[in-house]
Amino acid sequence: MARLVMKFGGVSVADGNRLRHVGDLVLHFSRDNEIVLVTSALQGVTDDLLACAKKAAKEGNVSEVIDFMEKLTDRHNQAITDAIKDPQIAKEVSETISNKLSELEKAYIGICYLGELTARSLDYISSYGEQLAAPILAGVLRDMGIPSLHYTGSEAGIITDSNYGDCRPLEKTYNLIPQRLLPLKGVPVVTGFIAKDEKGTITTLGRGGSDLSASLIGAAIDADEIWFWKETYGIMTTDPKIVPEARSIPSISYREAMELSNFGAKVLHPRSIEPAIRKGIPVRVKCTFDPDIPGTLIVHEDVPKADVIKAVTLHKNVALLNISGAGMIGTLGVAARAFSALAKAGINIVMISQGSSEVNISMIIEERQVEKAEDALRAEFPRDLVKDISHDHDVSAVAVVGAGMAGTPGVAARVFKAMGAAKINVVMISQASGQLNISFVVASKDAEQAVRELHREFGLGGET
Ligand code: ASP
Ligand code: MG
Repeated sequence: MARLVMKFGGVSVADGNRLRHVGDLVLHFSRDNEIVLVTSALQGVTDDLLACAKKAAKEGNVSEVIDFMEKLTDRHNQAITDAIKDPQIAKEVSETISNKLSELEKAYIGICYLGELTARSLDYISSYGEQLAAPILAGVLRDMGIPSLHYTGSEAGIITDSNYGDCRPLEKTYNLIPQRLLPLKGVPVVTGFIAKDEKGTITTLGRGGSDLSASLIGAAIDADEIWFWKETYGIMTTDPKIVPEARSIPSISYREAMELSNFGAKVLHPRSIEPAIRKGIPVRVKCTFDPDIPGTLIVHEDVPKADVIKAVTLHKNVALLNISGAGMIGTLGVAARAFSALAKAGINIVMISQGSSEVNISMIIEERQVEKAEDALRAEFPRDLVKDISHDHDVSAVAVVGAGMAGTPGVAARVFKAMGAAKINVVMISQASGQLNISFVVASKDAEQAVRELHREFGLGGET
């Protein structure tokens, strides 16, 4: 009997039929396992809740709020009708949902009258997506004969700081969760994403935070594995839209998975597996549409692949920022000033490179921030120190990732030889000494080809 935490979100919980499918999966796996379920809001609901709140604060139109509430009510009632057969259970769940919906409506009307929206009220509003989903899912399980109760994040023991919109769990969460959930009674359904702070105010763990909730719960109850059910076959060797031969990676280490998500393979947010890493609990990415395939297992140890590279990633929406000038040579503090000026302007740096001539420093940042970044650097540096500040939009960052490349000579040679053979010009290169990835920048028009060449070079689709 293994103990599993399973998280469902997005398309997996889009409507009544999908919720029923979740029930089938739980029924199947609960024969041999103890399970805790974590759910996100029905697909798209969090976005809708936030959009309606912003509109209400701006325009104060109560009748629009009422319209929105009607649609939201219909959608959830439809899900109940489609997913729960027993009329008694359906009725109970409907009542729970309808109470939640009237609380939410009151909050919206308050926002209409006040015309203001704080980070704290946004957390309150967006918490309803999960608060509506969890009772339905618990009802589905009961309807299938699985005992189940629903819990909000805070009822399950998740307590956070009060940094609304992006809260961090407090240490005591790790002690509270087992007190609240263990010993497991049936299959509890816990809302992802939401929690409370010590004052008892509703908080959220940031967008996409349900994964973090699942990981926290798994770590706190010493789960054997934490399963993230996604719409992909696991963590892929690259984007299948670019390379149709892309495959699911059977096994990958926490460190490699973090590298991959940093480089745009948006399967898991690095922060979301942090609690699992802390306790060394294996994390599995499973495909909702194909539950029999094992998916990707993320474990503590690096499991080197013979061919060293596990995946190729592409980050398209980036820009290159370059500062240069003879005045920079041997001048102390130029890099420090550039980085802190950018940090103060709220700009995240994706890649950095400076050659030993010290004449220029190149950085890769998110494309949408490039103008702001240039302004910040111009304000920071006098012309005699940094002569040129420039940027290039039409670039993309490519990275090859794999722990096996640490200490293995010849990987960089293969990467750049492949680029040379394909006549792809390399604009900038960076490899940190952790040697888990080699990243480089090419013109956007060459980016997808670069990915295809590397995927083939390292035989990631089983080509060689
Ligand atoms: N429902 C929340 C969001 O859309 C949390 C999640 O889906 O993980 O951001
Ligand atoms: Mg979501």
